Amino acid sequence: MSLLDKKNGKLLVIAPHGDDEVLGAGGLIARALDRGWEAHVFFATSGGYTNGGSGGDIPEWVSMRLTEIEKAAQFLGITSYEVLDSGIGECVRLDTLTRRVMITALEDTLARIRPDIVAMPCRGHYHQDHRLTAEITLGALRPAPDGRLPFVPCVLAYGHTGAGWGGEGFQFSPNTFVDITDVIDRKLEALSCYQSQICPAPHPRNPEAMRKDAEHWGFLSGCQYAEAYECLRMVETI
Ligand SMILES: [Zn+2]
Repeated sequence: MSLLDKKNGKLLVIAPHGDDEVLGAGGLIARALDRGWEAHVFFATSGGYTNGGSGGDIPEWVSMRLTEIEKAAQFLGITSYEVLDSGIGECVRLDTLTRRVMITALEDTLARIRPDIVAMPCRGHYHQDHRLTAEITLGALRPAPDGRLPFVPCVLAYGHTGAGWGGEGFQFSPNTFVDITDVIDRKLEALSCYQSQICPAPHPRNPEAMRKDAEHWGFLSGCQYAEAYECLRMVETI
């Protein structure tokens, strides 16, 4: 049985920044679309702020990152996406928002899309935005048998090459794999839409490293290339 056996299903990928949807779940997105599913992405932030040093927000960076998101979405054929900080005119630092604001925004998205599968960032990532996004997603996806929240039967947490660093409490322990052999090239090309984020090898945010990562998970799951997920919830509804 495949996760994607349902007809006309809906996938929602939660991404802390533009590029995480590709790094973490680009193969699942491509396979879902190939199966006739809708694939939506919720970006917590464009990621348009400078890293390290004393650099502050640079408006051009925000528009550049939004342009890259659009390019990758067009390339993959994403059904729809939204960026939480769009319209504000600047990149929001997620750790300055209250969790309530973020959970409410995500709950609105879940109610509108009513996805069958949510792919979210794993909790075992050193980046504060990833950890925060994982935390608010778990809050928004809490069990609600009274029907106040949409029922999402399958919740998968993706990791990417940065996951797992940090020792206890930061583990990424995948137990679910998606065979992405047929779509690995599409995933790598989608990453190339994020030129500002690609670093020379052996940095993990690099097409060569991403192929090795997919190969590694393929070794562990018995296919050539795979994406790895922690299955956080699977309710059989067929
Ligand atoms: Zn990220």
